[in-house]
Amino acid sequence: MSAFYREKVLSVQHWTDTLFSFKATRDSGFRFQNGQFAMIGLEVEGRPLLRAYSMASANHEEELEFFSIKVADGPLTSRLQRIKQGDTILVGRKATGTLITDNLIPGDRLLLLSTGTGLAPFASLIKDPEVYERFEKIVLVHGCRHVNELAFGEQLVATLTEDELFGPLLSEKLSYYPTVTREPFRNRGRITDLITSEQLFNDIGQKPLNVEGDRIMMCGSPAMLEELKQMFEARAFTEGNHTEPGHFVIEKAFVER
Ligand SMILES: Cc1cc2nc3c(=O)[nH]c(=O)nc-3n(C[C@H](O)[C@H](O)[C@H](O)COP(=O)(O)OP(=O)(O)OC[C@H]3O[C@@H](n4cnc5c(N)ncnc54)[C@H](O)[C@@H]3O)c2cc1C
Repeated sequence: MSAFYREKVLSVQHWTDTLFSFKATRDSGFRFQNGQFAMIGLEVEGRPLLRAYSMASANHEEELEFFSIKVADGPLTSRLQRIKQGDTILVGRKATGTLITDNLIPGDRLLLLSTGTGLAPFASLIKDPEVYERFEKIVLVHGCRHVNELAFGEQLVATLTEDELFGPLLSEKLSYYPTVTREPFRNRGRITDLITSEQLFNDIGQKPLNVEGDRIMMCGSPAMLEELKQMFEARAFTEGNHTEPGHFVIEKAFVER
């Protein structure tokens, strides 16, 4: 048995010069937990070229979806950004990752903090009915440099808001907070600053950060994650993993090479 499923690209959407998303068929044997990632890629000169990708689709969905960066000289994404409907992608059989609700101690508010393509695992998690059962409030923060980089997330939330099942759940429980750093927008600033200053909580009309009730998942650049981790640890939050659940869990959105 091959280590990969060969899936067909169903659609591709380009959001900016540096961001695109695509949907692909999903083998019925491919199982994952919402928030996890798998190795995906292309066959190049007869050999698999793979990178870690978070599933942006939820595990109850029939199709797979991914939200991707375009790195001009990136071995995979210089090619992957040219895929079109009908092309074949490789999807590794094993999904893994720390951004799963079982790795968190029960709490009442879930903060999903992301930058850039770090939104992808949370796109999956906000389509998980169990997340809405476990938490009273969910706050999805997506930080980017420019407003147009928010488009994938904005469309996702708009679509879910219209959905028969998720619409009522979202309006009762989800606060979506997009923020940018490099141009005018209704929310501005870096996630660390927005939490430290309590601006985020003031803007959404909720209580400030508290270790008793808040549980956190973060996915973004390694530098952003390090800063957030230090900030939360200084406030007595502990990191969770598969052996011991904690107050927060972390996944890198990419690795610096
Ligand atoms: C756990 C995990 C999950 C990931 N999930 C995703 C995902 O859902 N979507 C996605 O686009 N990428 C994701 N990545 C990154 C992905 O694995 C690749 O790095 C990316 O697809 C670029 O591949 P490449 O071969 O073109 O360039 P690489 O040689 O892999 O990367 C070249 C450089 O590009 C930069 N870079 C790479 N990926 C990103 C990114 N996503 N955002 C900003 N800068 C980046 C880094 O500086 C990196 O050193 C994930 C990485 C990890 C570790």
